[in-house]
Amino acid sequence: MRNYIVFDLEWNQSAHGKADSVVDFPFEIIEIGAVKLRDDFSMAGEFHRLIKPQVYKQMHYAISEVTHMDMWELRHHGEDFASAADEFMEWCGDDCVYCTWGSMDLTELQRNMKYFGVENSFPKPLFYYDIQKLYARFYNNGLKPSLDSAVEELGLMEGRSFHRALDDAYYTGRLLARMAGEVGAERLLMYLSMDYFRLPARKDEEVRMVFPDYSKYVSLIFSSKEEAMKERSVAEMKCYKCGRMLRKKVRWFTPNQKIYYGLAICPEHGYLKGKIRMKRVDDSQVYVVKTLKLTDEEGAGKILDRKDDVRKKRAQRSRDKRKRQKKIAEGE
Ligand SMILES: [Zn+2]
Repeated sequence: MRNYIVFDLEWNQSAHGKADSVVDFPFEIIEIGAVKLRDDFSMAGEFHRLIKPQVYKQMHYAISEVTHMDMWELRHHGEDFASAADEFMEWCGDDCVYCTWGSMDLTELQRNMKYFGVENSFPKPLFYYDIQKLYARFYNNGLKPSLDSAVEELGLMEGRSFHRALDDAYYTGRLLARMAGEVGAERLLMYLSMDYFRLPARKDEEVRMVFPDYSKYVSLIFSSKEEAMKERSVAEMKCYKCGRMLRKKVRWFTPNQKIYYGLAICPEHGYLKGKIRMKRVDDSQVYVVKTLKLTDEEGAGKILDRKDDVRKKRAQRSRDKRKRQKKIAEGE
């Protein structure tokens, strides 16, 4: 039987801002809280550990304000991250699926594991449920609310407070159970998310997911944006309903070098809009998350408008540049 592990982390950061922050280690986990739900979403257990800080030994004011945790508590009741993480993984068991509120917790857990030399035994690729994203999709017009407002909205408020790991995990688990009941578990749990801490290393590890209303592709790492856009698997637009490779109506274009848009037409299913997010690994390396979604005339129109905007701005820039050059030339 598969369990749902709904967990939440609290972390601390440099009390003196980014300048004093350890490279590639912005957040140090100070608390792990989790609930285990059976496959009928009933409660099977709880897990809670406080962790003794080893890197950021002073509490960032914003963290203590929100969590009401202090260093005294962590020093006296906390344990090493490595043993807490091992105990957590042991408690989770083998056949489980992870659920978190938002997309950061699995990434930060793995980052802490790497920093402290704890073996990363998560599957690769690592799929999970982002309960905030599910709530946004099925209850909130795509907008991501805070945990307390979602809990309040569905009338799940209890005597527990917020912003401590176990309480937040508990409420997140309650939300999951409620949503599964109302939306239907099958319909709700179609929407898996993928954690991006460990990226595909080889072509055959690239990830392709098809959902009822869109598809998603996660690439391996490229040396630059230009290299990524040259890659066929990145540039192609394939209809996720029928598998046809589509001819583009609008080639990939970008207003900001971070997000690219494109448009294609499937002879059977109509307009398909594409969005490519360039995600940074370091100063030059990137990976790509591409989503394709069938759309209507209006959706297609928006892409065309956006393309037009980019074209106009580019034209304006080159006019400005010519003017500047002319001025310089006349001045000489
Ligand atoms: Zn099609």
